[in-house]
Amino acid sequence: MSGSPERQIVGRFAPSPTGALHSGSLVAAVGSYLMAKRDGGRWLLRLDDLDTSRQVPGMSDDILRTLELFGLFWDGEVARQSGHLEEYRHAFDALLRMGALYPCGCSRKEIARSASAPHGEDDGLVYPGSCRGGMKRGKTEPVIRSWRVRVPEDDICFSDLRRGRICQNLSAVSGDFAVRRGDGEFAYQLAVVVDDYLADVNQVVRGDDLLASTPRQIYLQQQLGFPQPDYCHLPLVAGPAGAKLSKRDNLISHQLGAVVGREQELLLAVLRFLGQSPPSELIGCPCTDILEWGVSNFDPLHLPAQGGVLEM
Ligand code: GLU
Repeated sequence: MSGSPERQIVGRFAPSPTGALHSGSLVAAVGSYLMAKRDGGRWLLRLDDLDTSRQVPGMSDDILRTLELFGLFWDGEVARQSGHLEEYRHAFDALLRMGALYPCGCSRKEIARSASAPHGEDDGLVYPGSCRGGMKRGKTEPVIRSWRVRVPEDDICFSDLRRGRICQNLSAVSGDFAVRRGDGEFAYQLAVVVDDYLADVNQVVRGDDLLASTPRQIYLQQQLGFPQPDYCHLPLVAGPAGAKLSKRDNLISHQLGAVVGREQELLLAVLRFLGQSPPSELIGCPCTDILEWGVSNFDPLHLPAQGGVLEM
């Protein structure tokens, strides 16, 4: 998708206010910032606050203050998913009108019980398509538990700046996936596609944990006629002893005072984690100087193939 000389890069960082930032989110913030800014682009901030049940009060503010501590200033207003419900509804209605969706009455338990529902790549269940031909009618009117999009038989392929060409067969990995719950709440996959489209985001840089979701998002972009952004999925920071990083590990929080005084050290560690070689003269310099060096010198070709522990 890249190429047109006049195209301005629009990148973004989209944390969920379900907890404080951690070192993995800081890697995504710094990586997306530098990738956008090295090309003179804009870097937007969006709070993914769709799932109200998982939100922790005060966290949105804590995330903003923490980013500021690192000198990571965003362009324009902070966007919030909670402000996009009308737009999600439009996209949902458009998909419905084109016959891309169907209502599904299956509970998670029923899907898990179904013999033809193995686990997909991202550990989610593969929906076997039980309601594709209509919801089963019992004695009572069936309850709609979700709205699902019919996925194609063909692979969805895209080129990731770090991971190279990725192909995924949605019927094998997720099956017809949900875009809206029966209670009306929109699913992350639909929301993020609409959010990025609304803000003209053309460069998505985020953690590798979201790589497996990308083909679903690309499929929705194709259905809705939205342009496809460029993608770069960054290596993941491992928790203690190489385990998957949990929300409680390596918290980076303004409110908790968990970083104060260590911002520069952390920022340099993140740059090294991303395969860059900041000079030793930057030790002890303000974050803005370190980021400035990053903007001029960041080279995505040096992004490492593997993640690991963030070495300080
Ligand atoms: N809000 C998502 C998260 O914190 C990220 C969404 C995205 O980058 O697409 O995991």
